[in-house]
Amino acid sequence: MLNSKVDQRNKKVLAISADVDLDDMAYDEEDGSYSFLCRCSGYYFITEEMLEKGVDIVGCNNCSLRIRVLYDVVEDEEDDE
Ligand SMILES: [Zn+2]
Repeated sequence: MLNSKVDQRNKKVLAISADVDLDDMAYDEEDGSYSFLCRCSGYYFITEEMLEKGVDIVGCNNCSLRIRVLYDVVEDEEDDE
């Protein structure tokens, strides 16, 4: 009983409205940023800089929804010994 309550709380904190593939986002060459239209007609933005830092959760600029951006991290060979 107690455990399921904790689970629900954790889910709420991580409320993600959708998983979006980076390929499905619109790329802006000038900004080096990706954007994705939210259902509220606002936008989610993620920049290449954020991707390099490992950021994958971005919020809408017009409402409180968030999405998880799905992408492959290419630079992952340094720890490979
Ligand atoms: Zn929105």
